[in-house]
Amino acid sequence: MKFCPKCEIKLKKDSGVLKCSKCGYVEGEADPQPKKVIQEKSDESFHVFAENEGEETMPTIKIECESCGHDEAVWWMLQTRSADEPTTQFYRCVKCKNTWRNYA
Ligand SMILES: [Zn+2]
Ligand SMILES: [Zn+2]
Repeated sequence: MKFCPKCEIKLKKDSGVLKCSKCGYVEGEADPQPKKVIQEKSDESFHVFAENEGEETMPTIKIECESCGHDEAVWWMLQTRSADEPTTQFYRCVKCKNTWRNYA
């Protein structure tokens, strides 16, 4: 049995919820503490784009692929975990999709 926290009277069941007939308080409706959305902070700093994701808009660079020897790769910059760390440059071979990074 539930009681209204304000009026301390018995809550009445009203269309599936427990409701105070006096003040209109509804049990469990509005959670005063919004659920904390815990952002999963990935420790993985090596972010790899999904296959072909945004590739068309990404700049390319003349660089030799370590994997297949092709001389063109798309590249992008990514700030890793902390701002103190240098920005990491990533390359992905346009031919074999091999992805590697450069700590320049
Ligand atoms: Zn009430
Ligand atoms: Zn390659």
